[in-house]
Amino acid sequence: MPYLRVALDVPLPRLFDYWLDSATPADIGRRVVVPFGSRRLVGVVLAILAEPEYEASAIKPAEAVLDDMPALPAPVLGLFQFCADYYQHPLGQVVHTALPTRFRDPNPYRVAEALRYHALDSVALQAQVPKRAALQQRLAQLLATPRSEAELRAAGGTAWKTVQAWLQDGRVRAEQLQPGASVAAPGPALNIEQAEAVQAISAAQGFAAFLLHGITGSGKTEVYLNAIAAVLARGEQALVLVPEINLTPQLEARFLRRFPGVDIVSLNSAVADGERAAGWVRAARGEASIVLGTRLAVFTPVPRLGLVVVDEEHDASFKQQDGLRYSARDVAVYRARQAGVPIVLGSATPALESWQNAEAGRYRHLRLSQRAVVGAQPPQWRLLSTKRQPLQDGLHARTLAALGERLARGEQALVFLNRRGYAPVMHCGECGWMAACTRCSARLTVHLRERTLRCHHCGDEAPLPRVCPGCGNQDMKPLGQGTQRLEDTLAERFPGARILRIDRDSTRRKGSFEAALQAVHAGEVDILIGTQMLAKGHDFPNLTLVAVVGADSGLYSADFRASERLYAQLAQVAGRAGRADKPGEVILQTDFPEHPLYQALLDDDYAAFAATELAERKLAGFPPFLHQAVLRAEADRLDDALAWLRQAALLAPLSEAVTVWDPVAAGMMRLANRERAQLLVQSTARSRLLAFLAEWMVALRAQKAGKVRWSLDVDPLEL
Ligand code: ADP
Ligand code: ZN
Ligand code: ZN
Repeated sequence: MPYLRVALDVPLPRLFDYWLDSATPADIGRRVVVPFGSRRLVGVVLAILAEPEYEASAIKPAEAVLDDMPALPAPVLGLFQFCADYYQHPLGQVVHTALPTRFRDPNPYRVAEALRYHALDSVALQAQVPKRAALQQRLAQLLATPRSEAELRAAGGTAWKTVQAWLQDGRVRAEQLQPGASVAAPGPALNIEQAEAVQAISAAQGFAAFLLHGITGSGKTEVYLNAIAAVLARGEQALVLVPEINLTPQLEARFLRRFPGVDIVSLNSAVADGERAAGWVRAARGEASIVLGTRLAVFTPVPRLGLVVVDEEHDASFKQQDGLRYSARDVAVYRARQAGVPIVLGSATPALESWQNAEAGRYRHLRLSQRAVVGAQPPQWRLLSTKRQPLQDGLHARTLAALGERLARGEQALVFLNRRGYAPVMHCGECGWMAACTRCSARLTVHLRERTLRCHHCGDEAPLPRVCPGCGNQDMKPLGQGTQRLEDTLAERFPGARILRIDRDSTRRKGSFEAALQAVHAGEVDILIGTQMLAKGHDFPNLTLVAVVGADSGLYSADFRASERLYAQLAQVAGRAGRADKPGEVILQTDFPEHPLYQALLDDDYAAFAATELAERKLAGFPPFLHQAVLRAEADRLDDALAWLRQAALLAPLSEAVTVWDPVAAGMMRLANRERAQLLVQSTARSRLLAFLAEWMVALRAQKAGKVRWSLDVDPLEL
């Protein structure tokens, strides 16, 4: 009697056996509905066995194997196993993290076919729709050639509704997509560095990792597009990973323009479950030629994989911070190696891990050293010392003057302050009281507009006190600068200016972020105030000045990765300034103008910065020169978390190659009424660390967790 070995979404590091008369090896990798306790669960068949591991009489029958999803191929199952082993996470949970949510539903999934839409007669259609209806005119033109749903939706507004109406009345026809080699629309002629990069990537035989280092606007995306064009021309597929940010629609539109008629699957959190499942299926069947998605997309089955691209590879959003704590960049490298295809990791400020890999010769370094648009110059940096300078509401006189100049010239400026709210602290000058969160070890941020104090960590809120709860003082002062305060200051200084603040508070409503970007593009804004939401990827052609305030707080952090992050963030925000005919200027207010990090930024010399940082990390014994894992525990009381970790340390296998540190309170000890502690383990030998962790986890899982919740984070980004 055949048995199925099934991966289930349960927090146990084991698989479960069921029997099914009709089971065949073709069921491996398929969904299966099985009873589990009193529940019905969806699992994935990982193996067919003649003999079960457990007492045969105790084994329950499976309900049914579903063939609504293409079976997960062996390499993808291998990828899951790798993640389970590397991140010490139960295989069943890895499998279910990696699958689109829709497939957790036991109801069969009806696969939507990939369709292409085209007008029966585009010219006639254009004549029929009103001349003034710009969107309809544009659609009628688009539909002269077969288009995907995504392409048509990208036309914006009610585009998709309109197309469906035309489908109804027969003016537009839908046809099933025929996969096959495709021809890319022409792009700009590549410069020498770009051409060499594309050439190197396309010439790679088998696995090769390329670190594509180029400043913002140096044409990295053009390199990807050209390398992908070569892959599609061979009839292969490309997997493109991008960070989780609001710019995916722009990038998607660029891909659609370059590859007309190509089935491009978008996988990110903004895509509805059903659509995600449909895209996943088309990729798995080999029909979609390009998979463009955030970190989860790294698990998509891509049978004819020819190239992997990770854009902004340094971005922290590639690392998942809960459940399966994987790095999609690292998994992507594994995947490329497994498939024997090249991978391109692109960034203006590569992760120091990747940089070191290039230095050590494991990755090939490709460099784009200039802005791609001829004549465009990188922005000019100016460091304004704020030491012993009388600031005006936190702004240097020369910052104000530069803003005034832009206003006079009708150009736009961005003031960058990565701190939302009105002020980070509410303070009593009499007794020294400061507003703190009752649930976290953190101060409350002043939100003057809403007259509240808010915790930016747990979301808790309290009304703004009129008098000091400590001493009754009626004259309490918000201390420091947040974006709201900056907005008030600038409104006072520049009464005629149109000022727009863009941060998480101002863009809570759905669609408001897009509307804000639209307003900037339409020239309805003179001065933008923004947090890191604005730092990435958005191009504002009329923006010629970026003024950075409050950056110093990132210079002297306890976190050894803080300066790397600060450099990346500042390089990125600086990239927003300037265009071909109007060079941009970046002003940075600082108490430490001589700081090497700022000096490297000034010279646009990431290599120098990386060399210094890496030398320090080597000396201090930090990644990438050794490998870390952190065991975290949380409980109602810190003592319980610490006690559990001390017990865990006693259970650690003896290993000369691995250092086990003492448990300590987490940097942010209390979060949402839970108290947190952690224990760091590290080794210079990755394989020894992994073997150690595997053995340790077996011992830890056998322990009672009691009141403690714990988790392991391999290659943690934050300690
Ligand atoms: P990055 O991804 O490095 O930020 P992009 O590929 O987006 O850079 O290129 C920046 C701008 O330069 C885009 O508008 C792009 O169309 C343009 N561009 C890229 N390569 C070239 C080229 N070889 N010639 C002219 N324009 C180019
Ligand atoms: Zn007081
Ligand atoms: Zn809090």
